[in-house]
Amino acid sequence: MRMAEIVAGAVLATSAAGVAQGTSDPLRVWVGNPDAAAVHAWVQGHLDEAARLEAQLLAVKGPRTVENTLAPFDEATRALDTASSGPSLLNNASPKKELRDVAQIEIQRVGKAGDELSLNRAVYEALRAVDVSKADAPTKFYMEKTLREYRLAGVDKDEATRNKVRDLQDKLTGLALRYQRNIAESVAHIEVKDVAELEGLPADYMHRHPANAEGVITITTDEPDYRPVMTYAKSTALRQRLFAAYNTRAYPVNKDLLLEVLGVRSELAHLLGFATWAELATADKMVGTPANVRVLIDELDKAARPAAAKEKAELIAFAQSKDSSITEIPEYSSSYWTEQYKRATYGFDSQSVRSYFPFAQVQEGVLHAASRIFHVSFVPAKDAEVWDPSVTVFDVTDGVAPGGKKLGRIYLDMHPRAGKNKWFNASTVVTGKRDVALPEARLNGNFAGGEAGDPGLMQYADVVTFFHEFGHMMHGVLGGHQEWVGIGPFSVEWDFVEAPSQMLEEFFANRAVIDTFAKDAKTGASMPKELFDKMVKADAFARGISIERQLMLANFSLTMHDRAPQTVDLDALLHEGYVKYAAFTEAPENRMYATFTHLMGYSSNYYTYMQSKVIALDFFAQFDEKNLLDGPAAMRYRKTVLEPGGSVSANTLVKNFLGRPQSYDAVRKWINEEFAAPVK
Ligand SMILES: [Zn+2]
Repeated sequence: MRMAEIVAGAVLATSAAGVAQGTSDPLRVWVGNPDAAAVHAWVQGHLDEAARLEAQLLAVKGPRTVENTLAPFDEATRALDTASSGPSLLNNASPKKELRDVAQIEIQRVGKAGDELSLNRAVYEALRAVDVSKADAPTKFYMEKTLREYRLAGVDKDEATRNKVRDLQDKLTGLALRYQRNIAESVAHIEVKDVAELEGLPADYMHRHPANAEGVITITTDEPDYRPVMTYAKSTALRQRLFAAYNTRAYPVNKDLLLEVLGVRSELAHLLGFATWAELATADKMVGTPANVRVLIDELDKAARPAAAKEKAELIAFAQSKDSSITEIPEYSSSYWTEQYKRATYGFDSQSVRSYFPFAQVQEGVLHAASRIFHVSFVPAKDAEVWDPSVTVFDVTDGVAPGGKKLGRIYLDMHPRAGKNKWFNASTVVTGKRDVALPEARLNGNFAGGEAGDPGLMQYADVVTFFHEFGHMMHGVLGGHQEWVGIGPFSVEWDFVEAPSQMLEEFFANRAVIDTFAKDAKTGASMPKELFDKMVKADAFARGISIERQLMLANFSLTMHDRAPQTVDLDALLHEGYVKYAAFTEAPENRMYATFTHLMGYSSNYYTYMQSKVIALDFFAQFDEKNLLDGPAAMRYRKTVLEPGGSVSANTLVKNFLGRPQSYDAVRKWINEEFAAPVK
């Protein structure tokens, strides 16, 4: 057990609430090798603690203060965070099925308790009665933000309205689950009768798709089947057929569900005093209003349109040189021609760089780069107990010299294994709070390697992902030292949270950074300059087209939510988007909205990716390209953007670092990088 960094009070409180035998650590559920019953009891201990703190704050007689009301509220929030982080980790990463199963049930239980607190009228009234006029700025900010969240959830409304809000929210949850389940259950397939139709696909793909006794090959709409066909198959007819099967999954059932969702969201927005759902959904974001999302879309469109037109012309000319009958590129041929163009123009084969990216070297390179950029050290915590022996743990200490003040801890859980989730993400393990608990974060990866004898040669895109997720990790560790957990790093506005991660991605395209770790796995030779240039050039191609595609999706998601739902014609909106933004011609059979899962989680706010990207590139432009790792911008970035966590608004974070609001100059330059210098 490691609890030197936890004040005795917090530990005693949790222990008093009853930590089960089997889990010997109040903040780290996996420690002590618990069984399912012990996990349940561990969660219950934290839920009891949250309930006790809530009762304590409601029982206050006399004037309400930060100490007697906000402080227990924040501790209740921390107890719920802990109750949620534990089972979330087990559900995603425990090698034991028994624990993953119990964790799913516990997550729902904690979710209910969280809803209860965040919809509690008495708690809202108690917080509202606190006098914060003499409190410090972060405390005032915390209070304002919390009260606004309560109001956006309708907690300040009369009881009949609150009941109606709850009904509509339950209805939305149910509809979203059905939408997702319909997608999961709607795997389609096509049949290929002539093996010649699969020309262009890699040998391992052919090997995985043998013909049956009748000579028929079946290809499903699952990603590992779908992507290679769209990228490599020479047959246009095959790509068109599979594209149609893929983009009509869960149709028409999910079209009807989506229209129902739009209706319920609109009703909910009206109840809460907003004209449209888009107004409600942007009210607590950096942008603030749907009109500002339009500004973002229009500005980015201006920045990307000239490049997209040039890229499109180049692609069509290239396709014509191979097939003179081609005048347009339909969407189902876009990946194929882009891949062919990159190979022919840059001579770059994504397989050719893998030997320079063996996993262990890349990890060392990322840690080394992060250490220099953020002025921290990563000290192996070899005695730390982990949930799987493959997980490595580092304590993060301040300064590049050893022996600095401990700032937090990171867990690197990097390779696939049975039962582990298939994604790449960073998540909170221990919620940090100044003088109470140090932040701990976990990187969930599914990178190559991890088996004895396998060097784990990584793809270019995987290395970028590693940098991306590490950006989240540093945000979590450096920003997790606030006075209150409610203003921690991941409480920052949703349209900002991907900025620190996308910012770190940019470091990877820098020669000096790559040189620190990209060495051939067998010979130890550095990556040749020519190969590096090709890699960077190939990566930079078609940024205009891809930004325009993102804008099409952002516009689609916004437009269906910023008007009366009965006037929404999904097919017409999709068609308008293609005409306005897409480089490739629309396939008339496309019903992608039936499988566009972001419409459930992000609703009208698909733009958030683009907003974070604009900021990330603007941030990165402040660094000295010649001295990326050691220049002064990095420390200023740590102090003004990462360390404040969510204690000020994201617009303030941006202004504090840039000295002005975000601009579109950096993103424009980034989009046009491909045209900046001749290919070597
Ligand atoms: Zn991310």
